[in-house]
Amino acid sequence: MEMKSRIQEKFKLLYGTEGDLFSSAGRINLIGEHTDYNGGYVFPGAIDKGIIIEIRLNGTDKVHAYSLDYDEYVEFGLNEEDKPQQSWARYIFGVCRETMKRGGKVEGFDTVFAGDVPLGAGLSSSAALESTFAYALNYLFNNMIDKFELAKIGQSTEHNYCGVNCGIMDQFASIFGKKGSLIRLNCKTLEYKYFPFDPEAAGYKLVLIDSCVKHELASSAYNKRRQSCENACAAIKKNHPDVEFLSDAKRVWLDEVRDQIPEEDFLRAEYVIGEVQRVLDVCDALERGDYETVGEMMYETHFGLSRLYEVSCEELDFLNKLARKCDVTGSRVMGGGFGGCTINLVRKDLYDSFISTATTQFTEKFGHAPKVYDVVISDGARKIE
Ligand code: ADP
Ligand code: MG
Repeated sequence: MEMKSRIQEKFKLLYGTEGDLFSSAGRINLIGEHTDYNGGYVFPGAIDKGIIIEIRLNGTDKVHAYSLDYDEYVEFGLNEEDKPQQSWARYIFGVCRETMKRGGKVEGFDTVFAGDVPLGAGLSSSAALESTFAYALNYLFNNMIDKFELAKIGQSTEHNYCGVNCGIMDQFASIFGKKGSLIRLNCKTLEYKYFPFDPEAAGYKLVLIDSCVKHELASSAYNKRRQSCENACAAIKKNHPDVEFLSDAKRVWLDEVRDQIPEEDFLRAEYVIGEVQRVLDVCDALERGDYETVGEMMYETHFGLSRLYEVSCEELDFLNKLARKCDVTGSRVMGGGFGGCTINLVRKDLYDSFISTATTQFTEKFGHAPKVYDVVISDGARKIE
């Protein structure tokens, strides 16, 4: 049965009535990796996988929530000390609390929800969950909180109730996502702009290949990469005082300080400065409908992440090389690195052979099959009529 119908059936069974339906989405990031904390651009879009909730105010001060996917029912109050045990319920509780902290009204409600974003695969199922509830509560209580603040409600939920110190990109994409568009977000100024992205219409598909590995290194390496970027930035700033973030620096300014910083820091900074430019180049290419250039930039990003920034791994490099061999237009590791997915832009006529080659050869080499997710850029948070 369709997800929406299963939700409605369960809602009726539990609460004896009907509520309103809302939805929001997971996200991909086409290009612009490890640029956020350097004040650069990211370029995400919402996808056709998300969360659907049915919800109705219940006139009490309690939330009644049922997760279809976990087959679990939870009740909680809305005061700080009412924080539920179940981790999925903490996302909902956190969104309620963060809405209230911003002066929004929240009272008791009944809800049933489900989703089809694979958990922990780098598509941000958690942001989809937060954004759906943030949007729905804002609508139902008529709180008039603006969209950017709704994204921040999701981000603060992760920080304050889920122990994840994330940036704003995931929730931003989930709230602002629009069918057929990617959104270039300037992480320093928070200015954003929509660009057309409709690969299907141009004869391509967007597909993620999930290596299903997560190497331990990720969080310690992340801190080290940030430190390298700060070092390089500080050295450049001595010559160019206006430079606040590494993304403000020109490539030649980095060359000026090459012998003043460790070679490793130089390579990290070289990647970041290149990546900021690549986002701009991809946006230009999309305005011309030039998907071949987009793909070439994705390969350049992969090279940078693998050789300069050194956050790839054997499995992801293998998938990237395989994509090249199969004439895939663009391919790169997506997300923080050390595991997770590659994102691939592939011509429709090559799709089947790429997927079967990648699946067979990856399984042969690593002893387990990768997962394959087709994605279409779709609308973010919304009410379903
Ligand atoms: P991701 O990278 O997918 O965001 P996270 O670990 O940040 O991975 O978030 C996954 C968590 O979000 C799950 O453990 C669960 O608590 C919650 N979640 C996401 N999707 C669902 C869902 N469909 N039903 C219940 N909880 C969900
Ligand atoms: Mg998450």
